[in-house]
Amino acid sequence: MTLAYVALGSNLGNPQQQLVEAMDALANLPDTRLLQRSQLYRTPPWGVLQQPSFVNAAVELDTGLSPHALLDALLTIEQRAGRVRAERNGPRTLDLDLLHVDGVRLDDARLTLPHPRMAERAFVLLPLHDIAPMLSLPGQVTVAEQLARLDLAGCERLAAP
Ligand code: ADP
Ligand code: MG
Repeated sequence: MTLAYVALGSNLGNPQQQLVEAMDALANLPDTRLLQRSQLYRTPPWGVLQQPSFVNAAVELDTGLSPHALLDALLTIEQRAGRVRAERNGPRTLDLDLLHVDGVRLDDARLTLPHPRMAERAFVLLPLHDIAPMLSLPGQVTVAEQLARLDLAGCERLAAP
């Protein structure tokens, strides 16, 4: 079994409900236990600014699935939630990104680990900090240290669902 961290985001439909349902779907994956879930955070849109704000969260899994099998499972859960891939960085009912799998470095056509853009994104590190503040990011920096360098303007914790 291996620890894996997944980022969740949504800004269409009912984002809070989408994230809670997605966390339940992750908890029900084969050969997998959901160990920790972060709080939910409202965060400003990123990249494409003319779209609703996002709700973001992160979870810690203990899984026997391979990284690629886990990615396939994430994409299946996105599709079941009605995800349509249109504009890059555009609005989505559900985005599930595999952030980190313990001991795994990987860069192929389908999967890059650790996730290459996680360290610049407050909407990823803020929830990840709830569950893994001491996790090491590329460059020997912890989640807590890197989060302290980011601009958290417009990010707020939501009341527990
Ligand atoms: P983004 O999350 O960057 O907005 P998408 O969710 O549309 O974009 O993902 C595009 C593709 O990124 C996925 O189909 C997947 O194959 C690839 N990908 C590469 N590395 C990862 C990763 N660590 N986690 C999730 N997807 C990844
Ligand atoms: Mg994604």
